[in-house]
Amino acid sequence: MRYISTRGQAPALSFEEVVLTGMASDGGLYVPEEIPTLCHDDLAAMAGLSYAEIAFRVMQPYVNGEIDDATFRRIVTEAYATFSHDAVVPLNQLDANHFLLELFHGPTLAFKDVALQLLGRLLDHFLAKRGERAVIMGATSGDTGSAAIEGCRHCDNLDIFILHPHNRVSEVQRRQMTSVLADNVFNVAIEGNFDDAQAMVKASFADQSFLNGTRLVAVNSINWARIMAQIVYYVASAVALGAPHRPVSFCVPSANFGNVFAGYMAYRMGLPVEQFVIATNANDILHRTLADNDFSKKALVATLAPSMDIVVSSNFERLLFEAYERDGDAVRALLERFQAEPAALADAPLSRLREKFASHSVDDATILEVIREAHHRTQEILDPHTATGYRAAERVRADAATPMITLATAHPAKFAEAVVKAGFPGVPLPPHMDDLLEREERYTVLPAELAAVQKFVAENRR
Ligand SMILES: *Cc1c(COP(=O)(O)O)cnc(C)c1O
Repeated sequence: MRYISTRGQAPALSFEEVVLTGMASDGGLYVPEEIPTLCHDDLAAMAGLSYAEIAFRVMQPYVNGEIDDATFRRIVTEAYATFSHDAVVPLNQLDANHFLLELFHGPTLAFKDVALQLLGRLLDHFLAKRGERAVIMGATSGDTGSAAIEGCRHCDNLDIFILHPHNRVSEVQRRQMTSVLADNVFNVAIEGNFDDAQAMVKASFADQSFLNGTRLVAVNSINWARIMAQIVYYVASAVALGAPHRPVSFCVPSANFGNVFAGYMAYRMGLPVEQFVIATNANDILHRTLADNDFSKKALVATLAPSMDIVVSSNFERLLFEAYERDGDAVRALLERFQAEPAALADAPLSRLREKFASHSVDDATILEVIREAHHRTQEILDPHTATGYRAAERVRADAATPMITLATAHPAKFAEAVVKAGFPGVPLPPHMDDLLEREERYTVLPAELAAVQKFVAENRR
């Protein structure tokens, strides 16, 4: 299997190349040329299997024989052994037919661990095979940075540099990054805001000469391997609730659209899914596009669900590619228009999307109300991202008889600010992290100057 670009003009790549490459050279995103299928019997045979075994079976066709089965099985098993729950992603029944899929039992308490525990190991495997080393650079305002660091801390062939805005991430989020003291992990606190940090990372990717030929790798959600890893929990949770014999629906708190796109891939592979509900916070481009065909940028709003604060949903392009029946030229034209001015989808692709997707946007006041209401009804304390999903699932689900699975994307202890604002005393960190606030930290404060940051990276990489 090859991987092709959503804009139709970049060369097709192998799995190995696509893992090591971020964006396609034509500005598009890579997707598999053909979507592998899971037939009725394949799904039925997954009942009762471990998460790691389901993960192996779902992902193996995408890997396309480029890693031998025994090695890939070992990589998958090691990646998910880092989760603190034996089910890896347990289902928690909230009421008669509404379930939470708890994706927050990984090392950093948010769903990004599911993909990044695997991606770090895949990168390390391919680099070792090539006898190469690589540098990862990323900017974070929270969840991605810590998940990437945890995913790479044991990788012999990778050095990781994560930039965060100095004094502008929460203490829990900072310490999840800075208390990892591995030799290949470098935290840089930038004297500036998140946009300054991100601009320096972008500039470093655009001109990599400061690394003298060493490969720079991105681990943001446009990396295909992250989508691939996320397909697995849709399949595993649906099978646990009776797939392929009965369908389920999913509700996904969404931002860059990587998570819900993975669900759509599971559906295209053959998983019976009745409906996908997209939940957004006040940064509602996905909801405006689906509900009103208003595909336009709006100023960023800082919300109580900060990991969903985005202006543009980068992975939505992958869904547009499918909605436009894989017409790369049409996707390129639409996205070029969107960059310049408010855009709209053509009628046929929009109605294709509306057949499977519904959406709902939840503002900050409602997030607090939902945290209280969900606790009153179910005794659960939801994190603010999951709260958007809980509300959206209740408001726009098509059918009360089909099980609704809302993805719980973070542990509430990670976003205690919202929980406290909702009137609760706070949520303790889970036992394996309860000494987080006493752990030794290591990070370097640098000015928001590209030359200073690049010098630091070049001098410290191993
Ligand atoms: C990243 C993140 C999201 C958004 O996921 P996308 O794949 O970008 O749509 C939602 N909730 C939490 C807690 C996150 O960290």
